[in-house]
Amino acid sequence: MARLVMKFGGTSVANIERIRNVARHVKREVEAGYQVAVVVSAMSGKTNELVGWCKDASALYDPREYDAVVASGEQVTSGLLAIVLQEMGLSARSWQGWQLPISTDDAHGSARILDIDSEKLGAAIDGGQVAVIAGFQGIHLPTGRLTTLGRGGSDTSAVAVAAALKAERCDIYTDVDGVYTTDPRVVPKARRLDRIAFEEMLEMASLGAKVLQVRSVELAMVHNVRTFVRSSLVDPDAPETANVEKAGTLICDEEEIVANQMESQVVTGIAFSKDEAQVSIRRVADKPGIAAAVFGPLADAHINVDMIVQNVSADGFTDITFTVPTADFERAKAVIEKARDTIAHQVVEGATDVTKVSVIGIGMRSHAGVAAQAFQALAGKGINIRAITTSEIKISFLIDAAYTELAVRTLHSLYGLDS
Ligand code: ADP
Ligand code: ASP
Ligand code: MG
Repeated sequence: MARLVMKFGGTSVANIERIRNVARHVKREVEAGYQVAVVVSAMSGKTNELVGWCKDASALYDPREYDAVVASGEQVTSGLLAIVLQEMGLSARSWQGWQLPISTDDAHGSARILDIDSEKLGAAIDGGQVAVIAGFQGIHLPTGRLTTLGRGGSDTSAVAVAAALKAERCDIYTDVDGVYTTDPRVVPKARRLDRIAFEEMLEMASLGAKVLQVRSVELAMVHNVRTFVRSSLVDPDAPETANVEKAGTLICDEEEIVANQMESQVVTGIAFSKDEAQVSIRRVADKPGIAAAVFGPLADAHINVDMIVQNVSADGFTDITFTVPTADFERAKAVIEKARDTIAHQVVEGATDVTKVSVIGIGMRSHAGVAAQAFQALAGKGINIRAITTSEIKISFLIDAAYTELAVRTLHSLYGLDS
């Protein structure tokens, strides 16, 4: 019998009524003949509350205890869904990460899945029982400590379970009915995509579209898991809900995307991230070794540098600008100041009220001029570009945060994405 993994995010399990609705989605698939493993998130808002409690308890909390606290949200929903499924007459039980086990490394707070033991899980669902797995959590086996996978990690749990079970599909149920050309909460004219290539989804997710956790897309790509993003907030028994091809967005290999669709569409989506801070180092000598003097200490401090711009020098001096995650802004400036002896800069400045807006599309590989169009359109709206980076299938612009919505909407229209 075919196996199916169904993942439900926080909004989908926000209260008992929603959990009943989720149970009806599960029942539909069981009745359609699937062996089902369900992965659940904590009720919406719960993880934020738990994280807040840890921070209130101590600014320098032990990350192992943080994981013990924040993993509890998913424990609650897995048990509740199992109860509701049982009440509906289905055989079901909850599984915590450590019970399977889902083994991870010991990077507490953002652990990576190493392996999922599918033996007990496979036996349970083979026997006709619905397995309700707590997402977001695992165990570091050598120490026996609970771990969590980073915010949004239940997506990754679900795709990993689907790969381990060799499931036919992994359905990610959320509060939107698929992946859109950009965040539909920001651009009402955003369009739902029927299909999006793994590479594009990976860029969308890592550049700010939080509809899927980045690692879940990486895993789906590596293990070729057919992943659908779809809405849980629909009538589970409506005939159109059963037709997954119509009811959501399939994330798949480039080859599966109809050729003419890709040729006509150069840009697939726009993503944005406010989690960026700009650091500028003024007047450093324009000579070999300076970039190493700047970025070496940042790497040693585990600070992730993203965009980098270096000006052309006029008089033997130049400016270097780069971006880091907002949370690392103060630390990054401190690292540069500490390395003043080798960098010999005049001043370090920066800003946190900046946004990175990115244009993504596999079609950009074979089309020139995509960036030039964007420069013109942004200039037309009086939006100044602070930094730019490009890769084969994306262009990112750093702009003032105040212009985020205007920039996203302008680019969305520019590339013909408006519905
Ligand atoms: P869940 O709790 O189900 O995991 P998330 O809040 O993590 O849900 O992700 C769903 C949200 O992602 C949507 O409500 C939407 O606002 C946001 N989002 C951002 N970019 C996109 C996009 N391109 N397509 C769809 N949703 C997006
Ligand atoms: N509950 C966790 C979070 O809010 C994991 C998830 O929802 O995927 O980050
Ligand atoms: Mg999520």
